[in-house]
Amino acid sequence: MSTEALAVAIDALLPQLQCRACGHAGCLPYAEAISRGEAGIDRCPPGGDALLDALAALTGLPRPPVVTGPAWAGPRRFRIDPTACIGCTKCLAVCPVDAIVGAARQMHDILAAECNGCGLCLPPCPVDCIHPEPAAEPESALVLRWRLRHAAQHARRAREETTGPLLEEVPADAAERRERVQAAITRARAARRAGDSTTG
Ligand code: SF4
Ligand code: SF4
Ligand code: SF4
Repeated sequence: MSTEALAVAIDALLPQLQCRACGHAGCLPYAEAISRGEAGIDRCPPGGDALLDALAALTGLPRPPVVTGPAWAGPRRFRIDPTACIGCTKCLAVCPVDAIVGAARQMHDILAAECNGCGLCLPPCPVDCIHPEPAAEPESALVLRWRLRHAAQHARRAREETTGPLLEEVPADAAERRERVQAAITRARAARRAGDSTTG
């Protein structure tokens, strides 16, 4: 099996929380590191013993006795206390599956059906108003959904690096609004010109 195919097969076994507890930027980067022989198979606390068995069987590597890394509290999802949220948007920026909705200075909310319980939104919240609740073990369709949502976010952010953010806070001042719209149009035209020149 090629390194690329092995990475895909490993990624298919990972929990898709994108929580970074393994020390990598997400599940796929961890899978790629294992496939290149740069990381052990014992670094994913959410995967637990069952993942150790599966990764050892897939890779042929010896099964480590235990998982290393931060303790994992088990399946959970999070909710935001609406009476305490100050609308700072800090949680929104870090959610790997775009499960948080809100805008600057407005209360934020977590889409319960999309939250994978990764916990990445907790540290940035300045008022500690994000709280865990127990959740059921996710079914494979939901795990796949988290992978797709994370991949879609990745693709959108890569696009935005060229064209600028698609969603920005709308400024109250009309002149500033016009300026922002003009800047967005200019960026989009430049991106289209760049695309035209590469496609001939
Ligand atoms: S679930 Fe978290 S710890 Fe496990 S591979 Fe994915 S990002 Fe790493
Ligand atoms: S809402 Fe928080 S815990 Fe849920 S997926 Fe997003 S960052 Fe993770
Ligand atoms: S980080 Fe906390 S206070 Fe800020 S928007 Fe998110 S939930 Fe609200």
